[in-house]
Amino acid sequence: MNVLITGGAGFIGSHLVGLHLNNGDSVLAVDDLSTGRRSNIEPFFDAEDFCFEVADLLDWPGLGRAVSGVDRIYHLAAVVGMFRVLDEPVEVMRVNVGGTEAILEEVVRSGTRAEILIASSSSVYGQTQGKELDEGLDLVFTPEGGGLTGYALSKLTNELQAIAYQREYGLPVAVARLFNTVGPRQAGDYGFVLPRFVRQALDGEPLTVFGDGSQTRSFCDVRDTIEALELLAGNKANDGRPVNVGNAREISILDLAELVIERAGSSSDVEFIPYEEAYGEKFRTIGQRRPVVERLKTTTGFQPKWTLEQTIDDLIERERVEAYSREVLV
Ligand code: UDP
Repeated sequence: MNVLITGGAGFIGSHLVGLHLNNGDSVLAVDDLSTGRRSNIEPFFDAEDFCFEVADLLDWPGLGRAVSGVDRIYHLAAVVGMFRVLDEPVEVMRVNVGGTEAILEEVVRSGTRAEILIASSSSVYGQTQGKELDEGLDLVFTPEGGGLTGYALSKLTNELQAIAYQREYGLPVAVARLFNTVGPRQAGDYGFVLPRFVRQALDGEPLTVFGDGSQTRSFCDVRDTIEALELLAGNKANDGRPVNVGNAREISILDLAELVIERAGSSSDVEFIPYEEAYGEKFRTIGQRRPVVERLKTTTGFQPKWTLEQTIDDLIERERVEAYSREVLV
């Protein structure tokens, strides 16, 4: 199978590259390297069936060539990460909405019958209250919620773009509402919590808990996530309906900090940082985020395999090995 992965040098994208190369597929990855990193995919550069291009989807001369003759497209390219999303609201709209339109338009123009998976986000639930978030809920947004609302609506627009192109052109599109994803290659630079906590715990620095730490999240290991995405993309009945992709286990951020400290055997403390200091004045926190995963299960039979403890232990081990090799190399 020929596979195109936009955002292929990113955290989730690079794991998908590895999965498909392992399957024996040909993979073309494209990334503008804004948050993606060349080092994420360097191990694949020697693979015969792997190509990588650095490009912005809205300005990519190779788009037509990439889309024609492809069997599957994972569209993951987007502005992501809380710090970037809040700092670059215009880029969020340009890349997230414009990039998705560019891909879908090219699919229609080329007449390819590729399976398409569009990455949406649990941020589409906005300020929707409810213990568990299921795909059928009415959605609530706060217009003055700052950049986060812009990001949420850009992702909701992606879902509506998928449905529009499915209805009007019959494209087989899957939409994955990705909940918090964690694992190797996730960078803490853009705000993601777990790589930050692991690094802080290993450096003996305080773990920076934003707010009072009572907010909850549900974390899914990326190696599970990519399996779910593969199954979802290949589902013959795809009709653009969104599907939550995540792990239903919920944990508060304070408990997460304590768990990381415990697993690392670290002497770090927790430092509480007010949201305004972390993200700026207009920030409205999301208190709880837990997916209902019934639709994912019934559509794909997917069951996550990694526990949060296993992921944390794996990240700690990798950080230690990396720190050791840095020391030895110096
Ligand atoms: N967070 C934190 N300390 C950090 C980074 C993040 O307490 O150093 C919190 C953040 O405020 C949020 C949760 O951890 O409540 C998850 O943050 P992340 O950016 O990973 O994902 P989000 O769910 O916000 O998209």
